[in-house]
Amino acid sequence: MTAAVIDGKAFAATLRARVGDLAAAFEAKAGRKAGLAVVLVGEDPASQVYVRSKGKSTVEAGMNSFEYKLPADTAEADLLATVDQLNADPAVDGILVQLPLPKHIDEQKVIAAINPDKDVDGFHVTNAGRLAVGQPGFVPCTPLGCLMLLKDRLGDLSGLDAVVIGRSNIVGKPMAQLLIAESCTVTVAHSRTKDLAQVVKRADIVVAAVGRAEMVKGDWIKPGATVIDVGINRVAGAEAGKTKLVGDVDYDSAAAVASAITPVPGGVGPMTIAVLLRNTLVAAYRNEGLELAA
Ligand code: NDP
Repeated sequence: MTAAVIDGKAFAATLRARVGDLAAAFEAKAGRKAGLAVVLVGEDPASQVYVRSKGKSTVEAGMNSFEYKLPADTAEADLLATVDQLNADPAVDGILVQLPLPKHIDEQKVIAAINPDKDVDGFHVTNAGRLAVGQPGFVPCTPLGCLMLLKDRLGDLSGLDAVVIGRSNIVGKPMAQLLIAESCTVTVAHSRTKDLAQVVKRADIVVAAVGRAEMVKGDWIKPGATVIDVGINRVAGAEAGKTKLVGDVDYDSAAAVASAITPVPGGVGPMTIAVLLRNTLVAAYRNEGLELAA
């Protein structure tokens, strides 16, 4: 068997186009554009790339992008003051503070300062709690993107066995919550899990969010399973001095047994920003008390 490739890039493009239509409709109804504020502290090169890309995509979708670039030595109190200012700004529907923050700043404190109704990253404990108890809120973008790909591929997920490898607050845990809400039987594996290969083997759905290059092998996968690879790992390429991106799943061996699999790059990665734009638009409609057509 050769697995079908789940084309996250194409799915994300469709989602972004839909968000663009809804953003135009929002502007017509509300008399203003939806707005996303992105705060970057310091000069981490990867974070700079993400922030630039988020800003560009926000504008392309017909929304306002407000970028705040603060120096690496910004005091925690000053960052908290910026967050407060954005909380109070009616032109700002979504606030995203790019992580990681410099070591002298307490990330949890900053996330806690964001108004949960503008927390389009879904990292605030209020939104984690809302997800856990099934109330409307904001769900972290990467796992929500994974769920969209799974539902697009499989339709009803009810009763399926799902194994999520990784228990981070931003990917693994919310992914598990989303799959529980879809009535999957969910196992969350992590670095202390015994006999991971056997645990993975019983899954109809495998979501790998580990951060270890090509760790999940094809012979761990149940034939016909659907594999979602969240990992982004930079490794040495075939040519000397060149690098390439690989996932947490050993793609070739897994694709030989799975029924469908996301590639890296071009799978989960493009979904994250598309879902961020969607979350921002949802925030805008809610902030204006407007109804959002599904
Ligand atoms: P974290 O480092 O926060 O979490 C990794 C998880 O993997 C932890 O729960 C850890 O277990 C578990 N783990 C580590 N080693 C093993 C092992 N040998 N066996 C089983 N489990 C293990 O990472 P994130 O959740 O933030 O990210 C995971 C991956 O997803 C990374 O590659 C990251 O780059 C990528 N990513 C991609 C995004 C995208 O847009 N596509 C967005 C976010 C992340 P323990 O808890 O016991 O330490």
